[in-house]
Amino acid sequence: MDEIRYKLELLKAMNQKITETERMYSMICETSNNAFFYYNYQTKQLNILGKWNDFFECELKDIRDLPKWVNCVDEPYRAGFSDFLNIEKDGKLDEIMQATVRNGKKWIEMQCSINYNSVGRPTDKVVRIKDITTLKKKNDELSFMAFYDALSGLFNRNYFVKKLKEFVDKAERCNSVVSVMILDIDDFRKINDGIGLLVGDDLIQQFGQFLKSLCNDNIIAGHFNSDLFCIAIYDPCGSRSVETIHNIIRERLSEGFTLLDGQNIKITVSVGVVEYPEAASTELELINCAEIVMFKSKHRGKDTISYYDARILNDFIETVALENKLKTALFSNSFFMYYQPQFYSDSRRIRGVEALIRWRDNDGRMISPAHFIPIAEQSGIIIPIGDWVMEESIRTFAAWREKFGCDIILSINISAIQYKKDDFVDKVLTVLKKYDVPCNNIELEITESVLIDDFENVKVKLLILREYGIRVALDDFGTGFSSMSYLNGLPIDTLKIDKTFIDNVVDDESSKIITGSMIDMVNRLGYETIAEGVETEEQYQYLKDIGCEVIQGFLFSKPIPGEKVEELLDVSWEK
Ligand code: C2E
Ligand code: MG
Ligand code: MG
Repeated sequence: MDEIRYKLELLKAMNQKITETERMYSMICETSNNAFFYYNYQTKQLNILGKWNDFFECELKDIRDLPKWVNCVDEPYRAGFSDFLNIEKDGKLDEIMQATVRNGKKWIEMQCSINYNSVGRPTDKVVRIKDITTLKKKNDELSFMAFYDALSGLFNRNYFVKKLKEFVDKAERCNSVVSVMILDIDDFRKINDGIGLLVGDDLIQQFGQFLKSLCNDNIIAGHFNSDLFCIAIYDPCGSRSVETIHNIIRERLSEGFTLLDGQNIKITVSVGVVEYPEAASTELELINCAEIVMFKSKHRGKDTISYYDARILNDFIETVALENKLKTALFSNSFFMYYQPQFYSDSRRIRGVEALIRWRDNDGRMISPAHFIPIAEQSGIIIPIGDWVMEESIRTFAAWREKFGCDIILSINISAIQYKKDDFVDKVLTVLKKYDVPCNNIELEITESVLIDDFENVKVKLLILREYGIRVALDDFGTGFSSMSYLNGLPIDTLKIDKTFIDNVVDDESSKIITGSMIDMVNRLGYETIAEGVETEEQYQYLKDIGCEVIQGFLFSKPIPGEKVEELLDVSWEK
């Protein structure tokens, strides 16, 4: 009897334990966001637990209902899911198996583990069902960010390069061609400043979307940075030839883009085109070459397409090499100054000198300022070079004044980049003060490029300079868009008539008429005129006769070193 009671007690205790354990598991299942599928092979008992209804609409009662479950997931995932549910048929499972399926908007991850008995037969199995929609979305966003540009939706640079490599590899295998087009929006900075960043982004987005619409298996497009895009075309021909694509782009651009703020903006692009294998053999070289060729388009006046040409590349390589040399030239004392005297045409007395920079590079070769100044301007090195020119020539000029008591003018060429700097006027005044040179003995030569873009600001600066008594000369007059009408409003003292006019002044009748009337008008407006590049006696006589006040040219003197200027001052300046 005792034994029965004891067994009953034991059974009761065991039952209680089982109930508690069941409660514990059921609580765990209910409080987790997961669902569980459990199947016992021996009892054929099937259980679904946890948040099953959050995942699936079907109810499973026994193992024959499994196809109902399979049908709950989206069609493309069903076959794989069915295999996953019958995974044990392929033999013993030693690890947890995993499958990801989609059920409408939900991404579901399932993990299956199976228990086996001592002879390797399955005893029971459990499938854990987990919602990974948020995680998947985050992962997708991350991989989107890794491959795509968030603004335009096009491939980013890295991914584009990878895709271009695939084109290049295929072209190598198939003996085919790949075209690479770099597109840069013309004057984007100005447009962006004008319309604001947000609207500028809208423009980039719309342009990017349009480029995306051109893409297919053989055409890819990438967005490299703010306004730089790249297209690669595998086997360009017919409807996917570079010319056709370029025409489609131009046509679309001519329609303009209606932006967030309602305005319609028309843009143009400068395009550089290179081809594999002609221009380069690797994807990175192709892109670099295309960028260089695109810059050529910019120089040619925008809204232009330029094609690879070995010469363009060589010019560029030379320019980069020169730019690098320029960076060190200041420190290695490779620059020095020459001075070209200017003479009054009637008395032939010296009026002043123009300071002209000279550069002898490390190989002893002279490099013309006409060649290196534009490169120094492009790279910004003109600023330290210009500072050096100012200091060196004013220091030398001060020494001449001291030695000869000469009251002549020193003309200094100023690049547009220097002139536009806010501290430009201060810099000039500081150097003049340092060497105690009066402002009215200094003339700054500017070219029309200074006037372009920001006429009103330039005018204000000119007025300040002149208030201090510094003279201003307009150099190379007649070569740009020089218009007499705007001259009228400009506070300048001297016009330097460019050599191209002087060259033909004797032989060519129309040159004679133009130069004659130009000098007449300039004189009447009250400016001083200097004729540049006077090489012959006939030119000089003619210019003198028509009233040109000052002559500068090889006829009287080439640019000369400072010591030679001293010899000249010594004989010509009455102390
Ligand atoms: P520019 O300011 O118009 O200077 C006159 C140029 O004409 C000088 O060339 C001078 O040597 C040359 N020249 C003068 N008379 C004759 C002549 O009768 N026949 C011929 N064939 N040439 C004559 P250079 O020194 O080679 O300078 C070229 C240009 O480089 C200058 O033109 C100026 O724009 C720029 N440059 C020179 N030095 C400087 C500088 O220190 N700073 C800046 N920003 N530019 C400079
Ligand atoms: Mg000059
Ligand atoms: Mg000139």
